[in-house]
Amino acid sequence: MKTIGLIGGMSWESSAVYYNIINRKVREVLGGFHSAKSVMVTVEFDEIQTLQHKEDWNALESIMVKSARQLETAGADFVVLCTNTMHLCSPAIVQNISIPFLHIAEATGLKIAETGLKKVALLGTRFTMEKDFYKTYILEHFGIEVIIPEEPEREIIHNTIYNELVQGVILDKSRLKFQQIIGNLEKRGAEGVILGCTEIPLLISQKDVQIHVFDTTTIHAEMAVRWALQ
Ligand code: GLU
Repeated sequence: MKTIGLIGGMSWESSAVYYNIINRKVREVLGGFHSAKSVMVTVEFDEIQTLQHKEDWNALESIMVKSARQLETAGADFVVLCTNTMHLCSPAIVQNISIPFLHIAEATGLKIAETGLKKVALLGTRFTMEKDFYKTYILEHFGIEVIIPEEPEREIIHNTIYNELVQGVILDKSRLKFQQIIGNLEKRGAEGVILGCTEIPLLISQKDVQIHVFDTTTIHAEMAVRWALQ
């Protein structure tokens, strides 16, 4: 079995979910006492979110590269970055390590492609929704169109992520708002919705939504297990 290297802490609320999923999945596949081999480097989220909101992507890149190298030194066989947003720094990470990197949009795109859907919506932080790195990845690698919510809706999603979800606060009224936003995206032609922030699955799941839900936390963590057991 390979050792999974996790860059966590963004936020730790979702890193805990990754840890849970990889261990449960390994036990499900191998049975008995089996569990995942892993190492995790956890960053300090206040530092990260401050730099994100200052748009200091160079400083963030340095932290991500340093964390990935720490995983490599610690014996990880590949790197899993437990957040969608920080995949903005993935080109720098890939350039600076000699072990493979499991891109969250690759795992997600593969999953969407399996369903045959051609147009999906993306919910995430403002950085993930508005910058090009995620939508373009899915379009260029899988030919799947990705649409995002309207501006006032993006603001609601971004604020809910930072003011509630990363702090472990899960509110029914926020779930309702997300359901309304997803309903609007469905009217604009979205056949599925990417929960493109690793904390959104703490709030919303398939049972809350009519269209197909792609939970990036579960998809990414389960693919990490497949890589580990290959
Ligand atoms: N975990 C979130 C994501 O998947 C947001 C927190 C962060 O900024 O990294 O994008």
